Amino acid sequence: MPAVPFEYHAPATLEEAIALLREHGDEAKPLAGGQSLVPLLTLRLARPAVLVDLNHLEELRAVRREGDALWIGALVRHRALERGEGALRACPLLQDAAALIGNVRVRALGTIGGSLAHADPAAELPAVVQALDGTVALRGPQGERQVPAGDFFVGALTTALGPAEVIVGVRLPVLGPGVGYAVEEFSRRAGDFAVVAAVAVVELRSPGEIARVRVALAGVGSTPRRLPGVEAALAGQRPDAETLRRAAGGAAGEVDPDGDAHASASYRRHLARVLTARALERAAAMAARRKTA
Ligand SMILES: Cc1cc2nc3c(=O)[nH]c(=O)nc-3n(C[C@H](O)[C@H](O)[C@H](O)COP(=O)(O)OP(=O)(O)OC[C@H]3O[C@@H](n4cnc5c(N)ncnc54)[C@H](O)[C@@H]3O)c2cc1C
Repeated sequence: MPAVPFEYHAPATLEEAIALLREHGDEAKPLAGGQSLVPLLTLRLARPAVLVDLNHLEELRAVRREGDALWIGALVRHRALERGEGALRACPLLQDAAALIGNVRVRALGTIGGSLAHADPAAELPAVVQALDGTVALRGPQGERQVPAGDFFVGALTTALGPAEVIVGVRLPVLGPGVGYAVEEFSRRAGDFAVVAAVAVVELRSPGEIARVRVALAGVGSTPRRLPGVEAALAGQRPDAETLRRAAGGAAGEVDPDGDAHASASYRRHLARVLTARALERAAAMAARRKTA
């Protein structure tokens, strides 16, 4: 089915893009990689009268190290994250997560900003940004503001983006030595959205002691969920398999998923526990290797 006709704008500057979004209000939508928006248009589930194409905004393509942080512009494609070249080497967790998104055609066009703005509850990148306590940078008619990931994802397909605001980029911490990470997910077929995905980041104080653990899950609620109980249970503990698995057992009790056509609520809770355990074990093993390397 063809999309409902729309006006198309391809602004050359961010200011112009924001002015167009402001002028057309609820009638307008930004377009990035089109990998979520275009299917919605052709299914007529979205009917914007105006599309504001962000693809000519070079300033949204930057990737740079800013001290202990990594800045990734909103228009950076999933495929670039998967390749992980240049400054992206500072956060290799993105490489593992991006490789799990759709297929190579989707990854060649889809962008990190689009994925965060779309806020699909099963998407990998929102869970990564949540696990890393990233900050999403938004620019709108009132200027720029920085929103912590925990405040950015408000509900399924709903974010803290205000009227005429666009995501300009995201700031993530650089993963230093002694930090290990892993992404584990279960999907029905390779390339499908995850039924549940688990992202774990483990930081060791010494080879025998965990300093800090961060875990975020996708597919267990309307937004990516951190697991504060599991994280607190592991601080100061030994990073052995038994301890990690015991703590991961608490994951099922920290989420309250709905069942749907893909999986029942109880199966999602089961996956939360199993995938958290697997991600923690791999992340802890990597942290130990990186600590001693
Ligand atoms: C076959 C297929 C399989 C897929 N599998 C997965 C998967 O396994 N995991 C996964 O995470 N995703 C998957 N996706 C979705 C993919 O990751 C998309 O790239 C992503 O969800 C949206 O990014 P985009 O750049 O294509 O955004 P678009 O489709 O262009 O836009 C999506 C939404 O975000 C808004 N938007 C875009 N950029 C900005 C911005 N900078 N500021 C404000 N609003 C913005 C748009 O207005 C729109 O509402 C799949 C898609 C397809 C078609």
